[in-house]
Amino acid sequence: MPRTPDRLRLLHAHVDQLRQCRACPDMIGPVVSGRPVLSPVMLVGQAPGNREGPAGKPFAWTAGKTMFGWFAQLGVDEEGFRSRVYMAAVCRCFPGKGAKGGDRVPSPEEIARCGVHLAAEVALVRPRLVVPVGKLAIAQLLPDAAQLVDVVGAVHRVTWHGHACDVLPLPHPSGASTWHRTEPGKTLLARALARLGQHEAWGAIRDAGPRALAAAEARA
Ligand code: SF4
Repeated sequence: MPRTPDRLRLLHAHVDQLRQCRACPDMIGPVVSGRPVLSPVMLVGQAPGNREGPAGKPFAWTAGKTMFGWFAQLGVDEEGFRSRVYMAAVCRCFPGKGAKGGDRVPSPEEIARCGVHLAAEVALVRPRLVVPVGKLAIAQLLPDAAQLVDVVGAVHRVTWHGHACDVLPLPHPSGASTWHRTEPGKTLLARALARLGQHEAWGAIRDAGPRALAAAEARA
């Protein structure tokens, strides 16, 4: 297993390479990636929208505002989150619009292709806690989950890409979704956020500055 400085160097190299990926002909670039940070927490989004590419960062628009508001309630503001959590996604490019005007759902082939990047990140970051946001992301970690009510609000233990970790699913914070603003979603979201705030990996990113976090990771 590579030492922490080597893992960090490899993660930087990985993100540089990821940004050059043009493997999917129907995806619209640029590739959107979070910062190359070794963290006990990995967030997995679905796919960027049309605003994230120009902004050069994931969750750059209204859904992000809602999501970072949830995390701020747990003591980590947006900048702290971006600098201390590895932000991945099921697909890293904008899929374009679907027939009904919403964002196109990535195809199984695109998910599998981009999954190669995810697998590499899991091996390098080795997160203790993974937070998938939205159904498509949740399905990668909890493929047997039939619906959100079955999994949101609980911590699940899984082995993902050969790595054992806790999973704490969250609903997508999109303004187009009413799930998290109506019952039972509202209560389940509150329960999920409470569990997130209590998780030791969340405590590590909340309480530690980036330098202390790197030292903690070196000991892990
Ligand atoms: S979606 Fe993923 S695999 Fe496809 S081009 Fe973008 S980065 Fe590459």
